[in-house]
Order: sequence, then C-alpha cells, then structure tokens
Amino acid sequence: MFAEIHVERGRIRAILPCLTGTIIRTETDTFTYPGCHVYPGIVDNHVHLVGLGEHLSMVSLHDACSRDEVLTRLRSAEPIDGWVRAVGWNETLWDDQRLPTLDELDAVTGDVPLYASRIDTHSALVNSAAMRHARVQSSTALFIDEDLEPIFAALPAPSEETLRRMIERACAECVRHGITEVHDMNVAVEWLEVMRKMAESGRLPIRIQSFVAAHHRQWQQLGQLPSGGELLRVCGIKMFADGALGSRSALLRSPYADDASTCGRELLSVEEMTEHIDDAVMAGWPAIAIHAIGDAAVRNVIDAYAAVRGRGNADDVIFRIEHAQHVHPDDVKRMADFTIVACVQPTHCISDASMAEQRLDGERCQWSYRWRSLLDAGVHVGAGSDFPIESPDPFAGMNAFIRRTPRGYAAPWNAHECITHEEALKAFTIDAHATSGMEYRRGILNVGYDADFTITDVDLLDASKVVSSSDCVVATIVGGIRRFER
Ligand SMILES: [Zn+2]
Repeated sequence: MFAEIHVERGRIRAILPCLTGTIIRTETDTFTYPGCHVYPGIVDNHVHLVGLGEHLSMVSLHDACSRDEVLTRLRSAEPIDGWVRAVGWNETLWDDQRLPTLDELDAVTGDVPLYASRIDTHSALVNSAAMRHARVQSSTALFIDEDLEPIFAALPAPSEETLRRMIERACAECVRHGITEVHDMNVAVEWLEVMRKMAESGRLPIRIQSFVAAHHRQWQQLGQLPSGGELLRVCGIKMFADGALGSRSALLRSPYADDASTCGRELLSVEEMTEHIDDAVMAGWPAIAIHAIGDAAVRNVIDAYAAVRGRGNADDVIFRIEHAQHVHPDDVKRMADFTIVACVQPTHCISDASMAEQRLDGERCQWSYRWRSLLDAGVHVGAGSDFPIESPDPFAGMNAFIRRTPRGYAAPWNAHECITHEEALKAFTIDAHATSGMEYRRGILNVGYDADFTITDVDLLDASKVVSSSDCVVATIVGGIRRFER
C-alpha cells in the first residue's frame, strides 16, 4: 500500500493516506519513496544467522571453473582465526577435472592451514599445515566423510571478533533482502553474549528472536533462561525429533519408498520430549521449537505437546513444529486442536520435490509441504527460509507458497496445496511474529506498533508479478531507523 507514516521513538504515531508512494517521517529524517509500497517488516522465522555469516565469510568456490582459479582464490584468501576456509568447489565444472595436489595447495597457502569443502560438504581439500594441526598424515589433499573428523576437531572455535563479523555480515544480508526480524534457531549460548553487546551498542540492524540449542539440555547445563530486549530476545529452545529426508534420516511411519530397510531415525522419544517440554514450561520459556520432518516425527511431537497441553499449565506457551514437512491427514487436525503452530520453509518444497518423490510413494507425497491443508484446518502457519541452506530471499519463499513450481517442472507440484498472495505475505509478517509471540507489537501497519517496514517498488499482492528481493526491495527500516536503501 501507499502511505505516509509518522514515527516516534521507534513506533508508528500516525498513518496518513498518500496517493503517490511512501513517505516515512521520523523525529530526525524524512524518507520519500515515490511509487513505492510499504509493508510491515518481513520476518524469517527459521534461520541460522551465524551459519549464514560463516558462509559469507568463507572463500566461495561455487563458480570457480578451473583448478587454477581455485588455487588463485585460495592464494589471496584472508584467514579466519588462522585458517583459510573455503566452500563450494565442484570439479565436474572444470575442463580438466584433476583435483589440486597437496604440493599445489601447499604452494599457495604455505603454513596457513586450509579447509576447503566440496559443494556437497562430504569431502574437502586440506593442506599439510591442516594435517599437522589435526595430527593426521596423508599423501593426498582429498579427505572424505569420516576421514574429515580429525580435521573438524582441529578447526578453531570462532573468536568473539570473528563471530561479531559473521553476525554483522549475516544481518547486512538480511536487510538487503528486506528482512527486519529473524527467529534464529539452535543458537549456542556463547553467541548470545556477542549479539547482546551488538544490540546494546546499536550495531544490530535487525531484531533477533533466539531459540537456544537444547537438544542436549544445554540451556539447563549453562543456566540460560529466557530474556527480553527490543532487538535481541531469547525466547525459546530448539530440539530435534528426527533428521532429514535427503539423508533418509527423517522418521517415517513406514519404510522409505527407495530403501525398504529404513524408516529413518528417531532422535528423541515422545517421553523424552514431553519431559523436556515440561521442564522448559516450568522455567518460563515462552516458545518451544521442535524440528520434525517425517510423518512419524511430526506425530511424536504432537503427542508430546498434547500431553503437556492436556495438563492445562501451558496454555499460552507457543508450541512450534519446525518444517512440518510430511503430515499425516489425521495429524493436521490434531495440530489445530492443540494449537500447535507450523513453521514451514516453502523454498524447501521447490528444492526437494523431486527427491521427495523418490523417498516417498504417491500417497505420502500428497501429505508433503501441505500448506493449504494446514491453513484450512485452522493451523497457524509462519514462514522462513532455513538460510543458509536456502537463499534468504523471502520473495523466493512467497513465490514458492503461491506457485509451488520446482525447478524443471512445468506445472505446480500438488497444486491443491498452493496458498494465496495474501496468505503468503501474512505467513512472512504477522503470522511469523505470532510464532514467537510478538504479533501484539509487530506485523501490521497500525498506530502504536513498531516502525519496522519493508519498502518495495512492486505491489506484492499483484498476482502477475514474480519478484526477487534484489529487484524489488527499496529500503528496510527497523524501529524507525533506515538500515538499508537501494
Ligand atoms: Zn534449520
């Protein structure tokens, strides 16, 4: 919509009609965007912020098209905490597919240890210095799967300075994509101190709702409790009920279609989850997030949440299922009955549909990424990207919600599960806020609400347009402060 919005102390003071575009007036600034539309700030409700920062800090070899180019980039690489880190090499793109030798790598990196992972991350090139640090010996530079474990163990934990730089890079990427707030998943408690300092010194350009890593009860061991703040709020814990579909570790009710020997992996039992949810509720956590991809894992999580809800002392705690990718028809209604929210990543459907068709047979494919069914049953759906696994671009997510057309497909995949433009935008704004309990302050343009805005030069509700953040985000404003402008 077009509007003139007056902001005071970071909140919306007045909204006036404007016929020509968007004007934002704060105590000190006036931002004028003719022909542009203003929306409540976009939220990504499932991200790995440090993971994105790490990704952006490493040397990218994804587009290197020869061995020489790889060596050149490694020669000029800036070490991170004393190591050269690179990602994404893919020798199948090179004319001559011979990998660099150990001598060639040592020649460009010298005494600085090197860890350069292949695009699939299952193998990596390392140099002699890295082997010395890891106390292993090899005549070749290529390490695969388990062989990499000593190298992993030798990688230094990021320093505070490195963490700060990675978080800054990731936040800068977010505002470029029009994102004003993220729900950061599986957060290590030691990262919070860095984020807290950034928030308090005004260097955190976005809002972060943190869900601390809790699979091994880290929050209890480390004494981490929920805490509030305008920019950084530690609001939830995160656990895993199962693995992922690609590696056949998502927990299914019956065996995989392409491997009858396995149903996947149960990472926590219903009893373990129930006990852990009880502890978290008693400790005052406002939100609980449990990763569940397979239909059996989703059912287990619902059983655990239902047991705790049934006792009546957790009515206002937000119970989230992260991914909720494959949901049995009986369980869709149970999610609604026990007010369990679905936190979905629509771009996973675009990336994984053809893989899902192999792993699951026809009927179970129908239960996959079932956004329309969830909404129609009254389940609350909030959206995210799971970056850096997928692109942070929220418009790619909205497009996936609306069009559901995987790469290489001519038509929507399970078209009956598409949702509308309005629903997609809500899932990335007000409905995403509701999955952390902030919908009372953000997610709609209303007087008294926080002045978080995403400003675009297209109408996001115009069904004829397919957009990406790089071509439509004009400005990103958080708490009345402009954090990005194209
Ligand atoms: Zn994730």
